[in-house]
Amino acid sequence: MTSHVVDQPGPTLIIHGGAGNVPSRTGEEAETFRRSLRQAFAAGQRALDVSACDAVIAAVTAMEDDPLFNAGRGGVLTANGTVETDAAVMTGDGHAGAVCCSRHARNPIQLAHKVLTDSPHVLLCDPPEQVCQDWGLEVAPPEYFVTQARRDQLERVLAGRQHAPKHGTVGAVARDRHGHLAAATSTGGIVASSQGRIGDSPVIGAGTFARNGVVAVSCTGDGEAFLQGVVAHEVDAQMRLAGQTVDRAALGALTDEVSSRLTGHAPATGGLIAIDSCERLVVCHVSASMLAAWPDHGEVLTSV
Ligand code: ASP
Repeated sequence: MTSHVVDQPGPTLIIHGGAGNVPSRTGEEAETFRRSLRQAFAAGQRALDVSACDAVIAAVTAMEDDPLFNAGRGGVLTANGTVETDAAVMTGDGHAGAVCCSRHARNPIQLAHKVLTDSPHVLLCDPPEQVCQDWGLEVAPPEYFVTQARRDQLERVLAGRQHAPKHGTVGAVARDRHGHLAAATSTGGIVASSQGRIGDSPVIGAGTFARNGVVAVSCTGDGEAFLQGVVAHEVDAQMRLAGQTVDRAALGALTDEVSSRLTGHAPATGGLIAIDSCERLVVCHVSASMLAAWPDHGEVLTSV
């Protein structure tokens, strides 16, 4: 278990680029991830003046556009070689929008936001291209999402030359100057999955959750464990009903609801970022590494 806890009152955000079963990166590779994380963090920070919701959408959009991450362009491939993306956003006033198996919107998180703002629904599965266009969103053909690096990865995994690597999902949580909270998560899912498989990311309460006055949470990791443990909501419940601090609640949720479950024969792994309503933020994982960026006394720290 690794956790970073910072007390930072006022408007602030945290982003993540997935928890992984690879050891922390070093050298050139680490620098590349640091640069991408800092760019996405800066995009979120610029929008934080508008609202917590704008901040998490801006940060996640930047990571969806960056093929380094498993979201939007560069998302991992299903066993059939396709990219199916899932995304969710929730604002602390209790409203949420989400999409799963999305294939057309260039930025699935913006589509999820449209579900929140422009539809009576919460979760849409594979919204048609026309719906994305009617909402004024940019659409992209299937080849836009599929990168050569992901084709090579799928080939190695299907040939048994590589274990399916985890994870690479992206997410952000923010608190704005009004103390309002928001959370967003976006993913390509897991490598070589069955078509139609949906993880925790777009499921409100499992991978994404926000409640003003309590906490905003975005998760990453073995989606099946996070779904069954309803992990993001568990952090909220531990704080609201058991009076836990955000760092203790995060730790407890990962230990009790993730590490205690099996993925195959091994304990499930993953991590989460969470921000409370007044001052504390936490990056926490029960995986070998986690990509994240968070503020600490005027600096932006990263873990890669
Ligand atoms: N939780 C995501 C999923 O199961 C994967 C990840 O976080 O990398 O779809």
